[in-house]
Formats: sequence, structure tokens, C-alpha cells
Amino acid sequence: MNQPSSQVRVRFAPSPTGYLHVGGARTALFDWLFARKRNGTFILRIEDTDVERSSEDMTRGILEAMTWLGLHWDEGPYYQSKRLDFYRETAQRLVKEGHAYQDEGAIRFRVPEGKVTYDDAVFGEITVETDTIENFVLLRSDSNPTYHLSVVVDDIDMRISHVIRGADHISNTPKQILLYRALGASLPVFAHLPLILGPDKTRLSKRHGATSVMAYQDEGIVPEALRNFLALLGWAPGTDQELFNDEELIHAFSLQGISKANAVFNQDKLAWFNAQYLSRLEHEKLVRYLKPEFIKAGLWRDSLEKEESAWFKSLIDLLRPRARVLQDFPRQSCLFLDPNIEYDPAAVEKFLKDPKIKEHLQALASRLESLPEFTLQSTEAAVRGFADELGIKAGALINASRVALTGQSVAPGIFDVMTLMGREKTVARLRI
Ligand code: GLU
Repeated sequence: MNQPSSQVRVRFAPSPTGYLHVGGARTALFDWLFARKRNGTFILRIEDTDVERSSEDMTRGILEAMTWLGLHWDEGPYYQSKRLDFYRETAQRLVKEGHAYQDEGAIRFRVPEGKVTYDDAVFGEITVETDTIENFVLLRSDSNPTYHLSVVVDDIDMRISHVIRGADHISNTPKQILLYRALGASLPVFAHLPLILGPDKTRLSKRHGATSVMAYQDEGIVPEALRNFLALLGWAPGTDQELFNDEELIHAFSLQGISKANAVFNQDKLAWFNAQYLSRLEHEKLVRYLKPEFIKAGLWRDSLEKEESAWFKSLIDLLRPRARVLQDFPRQSCLFLDPNIEYDPAAVEKFLKDPKIKEHLQALASRLESLPEFTLQSTEAAVRGFADELGIKAGALINASRVALTGQSVAPGIFDVMTLMGREKTVARLRI
């Protein structure tokens, strides 16, 4: 305990040249999980040395997306753009010690003869002959560091114990190991995460749909669902369990469970996770996610959180089983919250055309008006009893009532709708 050498320190090191995409988010999640699992430290480092391609907006977007996903960092963010002198000094030191040399204003690493072997925690032993590696640039002629220099200098300085990152960096690792050696530093554990592919087995890209994390927020995906989905992109718990809360995920996570095989990004699976979380999220949390959507839809009123909170909870609970995205809640709530309803002409044509059925609805309205109490049971008994008396199928009365009350031919259970709508509104709408 408390020995610095056994301390787990991991970092997520995005380059702010774009939004946080799902691949980056998966890397960040695995780093975060590993840190939590091992009681370690999760460090955020912004690799913004490429001034032309980096922007503060992108950095802000990345931090926001990580926060939304609940990936809280313990240290940082560190900005490489503020550490340039450190990289320059290190490059000079490497020159002085004979590991690097000046070349037309740039500084190049002198690749030694031999081979580099390391044991990747995911991909196993990897060996590269150094004669396949050119003398690579450390410091450009404009005195800006290359990625290899800054990443190794920082990983050493920040005492990173495990470098967990995408498999697209496997080919960079031998060069970086040579730098560790030249700088006299011990190696971290390297764990490269399998690539993420689209359903057509090519590398995931915009062609396959949204790749930016915040686009999923806009689409009404909840962070819990995206996180759970991302956790299973290239990692498996070794059991059939698919739904994990944070605690379970941290407990189950290990580098051994990471697969070498490419992971396939399946939108349907993400949609499934979202539906699962929408049906189970704690009410208060769900309302926090829903409020902006109700506001956007023009359906919010503060009483929903106050006087009407119990009623609002019944409404949300009624809609949970069918909801696929957050926007489904306001969409399906219109009929309760908006005084005007829109009638779907096809539904009217199908279930309300017969003048007889309209007469029946009028009569049903009067019956419901005089019920001693207006509940799930009493409304159902009234509708079924009335259909019996009329000698028609209850279904015909129910379908017609559904269109009259909701404007649609598909809606939640009609008696739930009636009770939630309340007697007054139900009666008024049946008198169509
Ligand atoms: N900044 C690099 C990237 O965004 C990651 C560096 C690393 O993880 O070693 O791809």
C-alpha cells in the first residue's frame, strides 16, 4: 500500500482536432474503469500541440462529452501546449546524450540497431526489428514536438503505469519504447484496444451514422445506455450479463477480458440498451433528462415537478415500456398536456367513420360521467358492460374511444389513458 511504484495511473489523451467520437469515448471509459477498479488515478491530458488543427471549442466539447458520460477525471486536464519547453529541453537532452541529432533545423531520433519486444496486455508479445523504423523526427524545424516525443515525455513525467489506448497506436509503440529506453525510464504496461468497425466491417466512420458522442445525446440516448453499450465494445465479462450498473462494471472489468478481435458497432444494440435504461432509470434521474425535451417540445410547466408531480410520475411510468428515445416521452405526452389534439385521418377513417359508433361514444361519455369513481377498474367495467348491452364487440368501442381520446390508433392501454387524462377531459373528448 501507498507505494508509488504500485500506483495505477492511467490517462486519456485526446487530440482536440474533432469531437469526442465513440472510439475515443470507449478508450476513455476503459481507462476510467481500469483506474476505478485498481483504485488508481485517471488523468486527462489534452494533446493540443498541433495548433492549427486543435481548437478550444473542440477541447470544451470533449470535456463536456466526458462529463455527460460520467467519466470524471482525477487529475488534469493537462494541456500539452503549455508544456512545450519541457519537450524542447528533453529533445536537447537526447541530442546531448547522443540519442538524437540535428537535421535541417529539426531534431531526429537516432534509432539504434536491434529489436523491440514488448508484451501487450491485449495483443500479447509484439516484436519489431528496429531496421524497419526510420530515424523519426522528435522536434520539428518550427520547434514543435511530434506526437511521439510529447506523449512519451508526458507519460514518463506523469508516472503513467498503464497506457490503454486504441489499436491504431500499436505501430507507434516500438518507436515510443525506444524513446523510453533512451530516456532511461521503465516501461508502462501497454494495452491496445481493438478497433471499432461498422456493420459492414469497415472502420467505423460517419458513413455508418453518428460517431460523435454528443450526437447521441441529441438523439435522445441516455448516458447510462451509451456507457453500458461502449463497455461491451471489445470487452466481455465472461458471463451472459449485459446490463451493468457502474459498480458491477467496475467489479467485472479487467484487461484480460479485452478482446483482440475488432468490435462491431451495432446501432440496434445501442437502441436496445437505451430502451432498457429508459424503462428502469430512477424517476428523478429520468425527469432530469426529460425536462429539456419537454421544454423543447413546448410541453413543460413547472407544476409537473410540484403539484402535479404524482400525476406526472404516472404519466412517465405509463410511457416507459414503449419509449426508445427521450423524445418519445414528450411525443406521447401531447395528448395529456396539450389541450388540442391532432386526429390522424387514417385512424378516424378506420374507427370513427360509422355514425353509430359516434352515438355510442356519446352514450359512453354519459355513463363515465356518472360513475361513482373514475378508476382503471371502473372505466374498464363501464366500457365492457356497455359493449355487452349494445351487443357489439368491446374492441370496437375501445378502438373508437382510443381515436377520440388520443387522435391515434396506437396508444398505451386505453383505461390507463382515461384515468390519466381524468374524467372531465375523457368525457369531453368522447363527445367528439
Ligand atoms: N492523442 C492521441 C490520439 O488522440 C492519443 C495518444 C495516446 O493515447 O498515446 O489519438
